[in-house]
Amino acid sequence: MKILLASSEVHPYSKTGGLADMVGALGKALARSGHEAGIVTPLYQGIHERFPALRRMDWQFNLPLGAQPVPAELWSLEVEKGLTIYFIDQPGFYQRAGIYLENHVSYPDNAERFIFFSKCVANLARYLPWRPDVVHVNDWQAGLVPALMLHQRRGEGWGNPPPVCLTIHNLAYQGIFPAAAFTLTNLPEEFFTIEGAEFYKQLNCLKAGIAFADVITTVSPRYAREITTEEFGCGLDGLLRRRQDRLFGILNGVDHEEWNPLHDPFLKHPYSAARLAGKRKNKIELQKEMGLPVAADAPLFGTITRLAEQKGVDIQLGALEEMLSADIQFVLLGSGSVAFERGYHALSRRFPSQVAVQIGYDEGLSHRIEAGCDFYIMPSRFEPSGLNQMYSLRYGTIPIVRAVGGLDDSVIDFSQNAARANGIKFREYSARALAQAVRKALALYQQPGLLRRYRQNAMKTDFSWDQTVDEYLKIYQIAEKINSGQDWRTAGHGP
Ligand code: ADP
Repeated sequence: MKILLASSEVHPYSKTGGLADMVGALGKALARSGHEAGIVTPLYQGIHERFPALRRMDWQFNLPLGAQPVPAELWSLEVEKGLTIYFIDQPGFYQRAGIYLENHVSYPDNAERFIFFSKCVANLARYLPWRPDVVHVNDWQAGLVPALMLHQRRGEGWGNPPPVCLTIHNLAYQGIFPAAAFTLTNLPEEFFTIEGAEFYKQLNCLKAGIAFADVITTVSPRYAREITTEEFGCGLDGLLRRRQDRLFGILNGVDHEEWNPLHDPFLKHPYSAARLAGKRKNKIELQKEMGLPVAADAPLFGTITRLAEQKGVDIQLGALEEMLSADIQFVLLGSGSVAFERGYHALSRRFPSQVAVQIGYDEGLSHRIEAGCDFYIMPSRFEPSGLNQMYSLRYGTIPIVRAVGGLDDSVIDFSQNAARANGIKFREYSARALAQAVRKALALYQQPGLLRRYRQNAMKTDFSWDQTVDEYLKIYQIAEKINSGQDWRTAGHGP
């Protein structure tokens, strides 16, 4: 198949979170299983310098954004056979220090920036000479693509547009703007209704995607069920329930080339399930790097995260407060809310020999934390997929997770299956429940035989993209059937 993907971030070109990892890995996995994939993304500051092989294409965009035509150029990078990245070059919009924000403040023209991006995606879907069979857009930044394509089909003579699949990576980010921003879309008013892009008199880009895409996926089966409930639906549960027959959950895979403790350029000591000695050495390196006392036997806990409410920072701070009376160490790598940064800094000042905090974004350190820790803590309020718990499993670092979304789908607790247990789960959203889970981890740490079995189970867990890519291909086929008016359920297809 020929698939055109669109995303506002793609690893290794740009990244703020799991979206970038997923799109980068899916593109590669599609190409390696014999398909043709193109990924459209903005050309942000610094990409050209880091990837000098980028080539300018013979392509000029000049697309209306409200009353204003906006020009842009197109650059491309052939990554490998079957995979091309298309970069939208609009310096006024994308050559900035951040992707979505700077100094904790969102760019005031994000509506312009990403509505324009969506228009470029629809333009490429229509005119790229290789004619994609399916367009796969991600999150609110590309959420208007299905509506823009539908409009071109209805009113602008696009005879046979490909179907569109929308993946929701996080329902909490919807791209909501004042109603006036709708004029930037140049779509007729019929798209701005309660059934479409309108959300309480505002423009909601993700809602438009959910309303007009042929199929909708999200990044774990459990999250696909959760978002149809009021508790997790972020105000869109009603629409999602109405679209439930087109809503599927596919757990993200792990890019085993990037995350493999035996071949990880960021680690000094490679290791594997069969040869775990390197893990202990990496722990010592990490203690040194983070300025903690070197203590190979002290249980070391870690977290790498956006410091946002979603990630359960409040209960984590509370639980650590309680648990630091025990002889444990904790390392944090994160960035985000200033209040949460302060909370961790305060903790490290009070427990300097036990808590080390690094604020910022650091790819290499994130690998070293995954490798060097004994336990990884991820107490999210909600978690669409979550990748770090899966990286932890790969690295034999036992995840302690709240049983929601992708965390519940990817980790096996002792109570679910004693023989295959690979992590520790808790349910209640409270510091008390998390502290209780940390106590279980300490009990596990005291039993080297059992800990070893957990680690072996963890490192055996297969989250490779080979199987995930097949699930996406089935969804694309369903999208094709829906787009051509067939009833896909009677055609013998099911995810
Ligand atoms: P989300 O997308 O909600 O932020 P995920 O767990 O799905 O959460 O993905 C987060 C990705 O971003 C992981 O690859 C993680 O390692 C990475 N990441 C998050 N914060 C940092 C940081 N401060 N430094 C390096 N990598 C980070």
